[in-house]
Amino acid sequence: MEYTSTRDKSLSVSSAVAIKTGLAPDGGLFVPKDIPQITKEEIEALAQMSYTDRAVKILEGYLTDFTGAELSECTHNAYNKAKFETDEIAPLYKLTNDVYFLELWHGPTCAFKDMALQILPHLLKKSVVKTGETKEVVILVATSGDTGKAALEGFKDVDGTRIIVFYPENGVSSMQKRQMATQEGNNVDVAAVYGNFDDAQSGVKRIFGDKEYARVLEQNNFMLSSANSINWGRLVPQIVYYFSAYANLVKNDEIKVGDPVNFVVPTGNFGNILAAYYAKEMGLPIAKLICASNENNVLTDFINTGVYDKNRPFKTTSSPSMDILISSNLERFLYHITGCDDVRVAGWMKELAETGRYEVPEVTKAKIREVFYGGCCNDEETLLTIRAVHKENGYVIDTHTAVAKCVYDAYRAETGDETKTVIVSTASPFKFSDNVLNAIAGDGAADGLDDFALLETLSEKGELTIPASLADLRTKPIIFTTTCDKTEMYDVVSHMLNLS
Ligand SMILES: *Cc1c(COP(=O)(O)O)cnc(C)c1O
Repeated sequence: MEYTSTRDKSLSVSSAVAIKTGLAPDGGLFVPKDIPQITKEEIEALAQMSYTDRAVKILEGYLTDFTGAELSECTHNAYNKAKFETDEIAPLYKLTNDVYFLELWHGPTCAFKDMALQILPHLLKKSVVKTGETKEVVILVATSGDTGKAALEGFKDVDGTRIIVFYPENGVSSMQKRQMATQEGNNVDVAAVYGNFDDAQSGVKRIFGDKEYARVLEQNNFMLSSANSINWGRLVPQIVYYFSAYANLVKNDEIKVGDPVNFVVPTGNFGNILAAYYAKEMGLPIAKLICASNENNVLTDFINTGVYDKNRPFKTTSSPSMDILISSNLERFLYHITGCDDVRVAGWMKELAETGRYEVPEVTKAKIREVFYGGCCNDEETLLTIRAVHKENGYVIDTHTAVAKCVYDAYRAETGDETKTVIVSTASPFKFSDNVLNAIAGDGAADGLDDFALLETLSEKGELTIPASLADLRTKPIIFTTTCDKTEMYDVVSHMLNLS
């Protein structure tokens, strides 16, 4: 299987090159030239397999330059009992007769980003070797919260890699700060940057673009790479859990192979729901893909009108991991839905960069609406949804998952569609305990409680066990206290790599 660029389809590279480089040289994203097909019989067979075997089966269609043994090693290193709280890895929770939650937050950082960031380091390490590269890979990450911790956990102690995470001093929650400052591992470094997320991100981008510095790194046998969500190595592992969810429905006699299922995905950068689209194109019987946004509802408008317009106020919401106005992975979808029209896609992306807006033609709009339904909800509706699900079903969901449930309720009321539906649950409720507690125990219940009192109170009121990885933070020593100015980020990198 060869990969090409969304902005220039004359390009052709292997999956190892796509994963190692992250972004195509023309600024486009790497996409597979064909989409592998899965038969009904193969789906039937998945039902009897473990999560790791399901993962090997899906990945081998895309990563054809990896051997079966290599993929097996990568999946076993990523998805195991030491990393995930359950053998099932991605269990399905049955809410009602026809609604299920796919819990993607049993990994080390309690959010769905673990599903990709636990395996990416292993895929990257192998990709580096395959492409004849001998340098040590240095991952630089700027994070607004969840990604940094998930990347640290994924890369920690992976041979041949180092990781440095920069977070904005005043841009992450105190729990997120603690998660990163207590990070263990002999190849990790963490620094707080004075300023906001943009300061941290622009600092990292400057280092990536600095040719002179790249030469210094090269002389010292290092190369930079990124764990960003546009890397194909982060997207492809996400396709697996859509097949896994379907396989579990078959295994539990909820459906027969071939029956249609809807998926609802709380969306920000469009990575998670794009993986569902690939699953559908591979032959998984997905009826509707429901794209749920918070008040940063650029995608809802895009699906409904064909106009992508990021020129609107950025809102800070109770589902912060979805506070995004540029959904980077949409570019891949546009490439596929236009029949691989790289010229058109490049044009739209140019318009987006220059004016913040582009519009797709009527035919494309119609195709988008065939696949997707788009909806959004605000913080008040999010809170009421958490409250209602807890009251009616005794099940506790986080704010991001609640956005998805709220949009699904609206979809069902509007369409009357009774197709069995899986709502993708992207974070443990403990990750956003203040808002969840206010929802299930009444407004003000979280007032005055510190991080650990919040965990304990939520555990009590929600009758839930606190995930060990969060409970353990209380006794973990703070390891990283470096704070730097935007201009000092080079020094942090050089210091970690012992460059003079
Ligand atoms: C990152 C994230 C999302 C959004 O996923 P995308 O792939 O960016 O659309 C949703 N929920 C949680 C908890 C996240 O961390």
